[in-house]
Amino acid sequence: SKKWKVNPAQIHLKDGSVISQNDFSIMAGPCSIESEEQVDSVIAHLVENNVKIMRGGVYKPRSSPYSFRGLGMEGLKMWYKKAKAAGILIITEVMQLSQVEEMYDFIDIYQVGARNTQNFNLLDELGKVDKPVMIKRGVSGTIEELLYSAEYVFSGGNENLILCERGIRTFENMTRNTLDINAIPVLKDKTHLPVIIDPSHGIGIRKFVEPVALAGIMAGADGVIFELHPDPETAMSDGQQSLYFEESAAMIRKMNMAYELR
Ligand code: PEP
Ligand code: MN
Repeated sequence: SKKWKVNPAQIHLKDGSVISQNDFSIMAGPCSIESEEQVDSVIAHLVENNVKIMRGGVYKPRSSPYSFRGLGMEGLKMWYKKAKAAGILIITEVMQLSQVEEMYDFIDIYQVGARNTQNFNLLDELGKVDKPVMIKRGVSGTIEELLYSAEYVFSGGNENLILCERGIRTFENMTRNTLDINAIPVLKDKTHLPVIIDPSHGIGIRKFVEPVALAGIMAGADGVIFELHPDPETAMSDGQQSLYFEESAAMIRKMNMAYELR
C-alpha cells in the first residue's frame, strides 16, 4: 500500500537519498538558525538520530517587523560549513528573487514559505534552477492554488518539486493553524510529487506535534518536517512548537515505525 504511483517524481539529493511517494523523509531543525552553538548541538542530535536533512530559517517571514528576522547569508554560510562537515543536507526558506542565486551554493532544497506560495515572480525564478524546491501551502490557500504554484516552477523547467501541507487558517483558534489531513491523499491522488507535512506549524503546540505527525503519516505523508531546539524556552522564534531533543528522538522512532506499518 506504500506505492501510490507507478512512476512518482524522484527528488535526488546529493547524498544519494531520494524524496518521493515511495520513500519516507524526515527534515528537522530549529525555526531559525541562531548561533554556532545552536547549530552544533542540532547537528549532533540529527546525526545521532539518523536524520539527513536539517531545516532552519536564515531569512524569517515574521508577522511583526520587530521580531528576529534571521542571520541572513552570514548565518547560512556558517551553517553550511558545519552541515557539510557532518554530511547533513540543508533546506531553508528563500524569501526573494535575489536570494535564489545567493543561496544556491549553500543549500540542498529551497523552501517556499506559506507567505510566498503565490509570489509568482519567485516561483518563476525557481523554475530556472536545478535544485529541489519545497512549496508550502499558503496560509489561506486552497489545494488547487498550491498545485498551480507548483505548476509555475514546473513549467519553468524545474521538475524537482516537493509539496508541503503546513496547516491552513480556519475558524478554529485553539490551535495556531489546522493541519489539513485531507490534503494529503488528495495531493497524492492529483500529482506524482512527494507530499511532506509540517505538524509544527500545522498545530503550533509542542505537545500535539507528535500525534499530528503520526496521523499524517498514516494518511499517506511521504515525509515530515518539524521544528526542534536545544532549549525551546529561549528560541528566537516558534519555541512554543519546537520539540526538546528527547521528544524529537522519541517522535523520530515512532514516525519510522508508523511508516513501516502503513
Ligand atoms: C517555517 O518553516 O519556519 C515557516 C515560516 O513556515 P511557514 O512558511 O509554513 O509559516
Ligand atoms: Mn517556524
